[in-house]
Amino acid sequence: MLGLMQSQPLLISGLIEFAERHHGDAEIVSRRVEGDIHRYTYKDSAGRARQVANALDSLKLVFSDRVATLAWNGYRHFELYYGVSGSGRVLHTINPRLHPDQIAWIANHAEDQVLCFDLSFLPLVQAVHSRCATIKHYIALCDQDKLPKDSGVPNLISYESWIGTQPGTYTWPTFDENTASSMCYTSGTTGNPKAALYSHRSSTLHAYAAALPDVMGMSARDAILPVVPMFHVNAWGIPYSAALTGAKLVFPGPAMDGKSIYELMEAEKVTYAAGVPTVWQMLLGHLTANNLKFSTLKRTVIGGSACPPAMIKAFNDDYGVEVLHAWGMTEMSPLGTLCTLKNKHDALPDDEKMKIRLKQGRAIYGVDMKIVDEAGKELPWDGKTYGDLYVKGPWIVRAYFKGEGGDPLVDGWFPTGDVGTIDADGYLQITDRSKDVIKSGGEWISSIDIENIAVAHPAVAMAACIGVLHPKWDERPIIAVVKKPGMDVSREALIAFFEGKTAKWQIPDDVVFVDAIPLGATGKMLKTRLREILKDYKLPGT
Ligand code: AMP
Repeated sequence: MLGLMQSQPLLISGLIEFAERHHGDAEIVSRRVEGDIHRYTYKDSAGRARQVANALDSLKLVFSDRVATLAWNGYRHFELYYGVSGSGRVLHTINPRLHPDQIAWIANHAEDQVLCFDLSFLPLVQAVHSRCATIKHYIALCDQDKLPKDSGVPNLISYESWIGTQPGTYTWPTFDENTASSMCYTSGTTGNPKAALYSHRSSTLHAYAAALPDVMGMSARDAILPVVPMFHVNAWGIPYSAALTGAKLVFPGPAMDGKSIYELMEAEKVTYAAGVPTVWQMLLGHLTANNLKFSTLKRTVIGGSACPPAMIKAFNDDYGVEVLHAWGMTEMSPLGTLCTLKNKHDALPDDEKMKIRLKQGRAIYGVDMKIVDEAGKELPWDGKTYGDLYVKGPWIVRAYFKGEGGDPLVDGWFPTGDVGTIDADGYLQITDRSKDVIKSGGEWISSIDIENIAVAHPAVAMAACIGVLHPKWDERPIIAVVKKPGMDVSREALIAFFEGKTAKWQIPDDVVFVDAIPLGATGKMLKTRLREILKDYKLPGT
């Protein structure tokens, strides 16, 4: 017997329709590439998303055609999120920090038909357009009078003139909720990048889950500033969850430095933010250097790479801001776990609570996870046993776009490539990417643990731990360190700083001071590149 409830597909257009109808006057504020602040409401945004849908029809784009973006977090990008997906096309957010060769490669692989870009990325578009065979239309996200002349980019029009002539009326089509809505290529550290292809259903379910109190905890009382880019896994789904909750949105545009972010947070009374640790490091640096405090910020989600305990404590103790440590990946839309405490932890002393909050957190309903050994056998949840982390759920990939890389699943589970422990309460702690694990004398050393200790030293700005070959122990850890400006620490003092903080045999054998640690397109440390840079390095005494 079937239930007798209405059957309504979960479509992305439903989110913006809801926001328009129930939170029509909630604000969306954006710092623009032009430098000024733009301000309007969900109602205005919904009207312009419909204009986008009409404008795509006018270009004769058919169902499931790909529309690419090279854009910062801003209101026009937000309109494309809804206008493109809502009308049945697929939004392909391209990471502008990728190499131009990679951008051309993925635009061709995705068979993008249209490319919408912020003017900051004009040089990039000029460098790649001749190699992007499928792109027929180039749209600069600007007013008509800002459209560059003689740019050499074919069929270039301004976004405002493109949508400006279109009506704001449009009936969003109804179709199968499993239809593709957007796509995002993984960083592709090995081989060519592969695309996760999200569906309306997966994105809507993820948006519901992300908004829950124990996940991102978003509400109509929040003013949310996603520093995490809209070109990286849909800004962790915030553009969808914000519409679902009616939260005010504050978009930082291209200005990601500590000062600009702080000023925007204060001016717009931001209560909630989300980003990767490298961005928050700049923000905290700005606050300390200028002796500033937050007046409205209450919580921030930090993920994308391990959030150092020193950062969680600094936010908590010095600024009264709760850090929610999150773990996920492009293939997971991206949220997998988020760290909040349980009822039974209420009576714990603060330092015991903090120990839990440093972990990557508990699985969100919709995500199941397990750790397995090399033979695929499930390992115990004791908080000590390391294993390869596998996940499954309705917003986790089952295959990559065009079948690249074959079938990624193992008995229905997606192997994340991460290694971690799970404790008896279900809290995950990521210890490494499997390829970064350091194996010393048959024991594993977590590079994340070593890095976390190093960045707790007051003179250390950034640290990356890698394993180097050792004749007796196979591998030993060394640590590459960037010092804070104007601060100093010697190799010996830094090694001594590890004493008592980790087992003796896990203490790095050497410290290499560097000017910078190579970062990838999503702001994560590129250990592959660091290993190349240090390929001639020899451990002292070997
Ligand atoms: P991406 O697909 O580019 O978002 O990268 C996903 C990968 O980033 C994961 O598989 C992890 O290796 C890493 N990652 C994400 N969040 C965390 C976190 N909180 N702690 C440690 N690693 C993380």
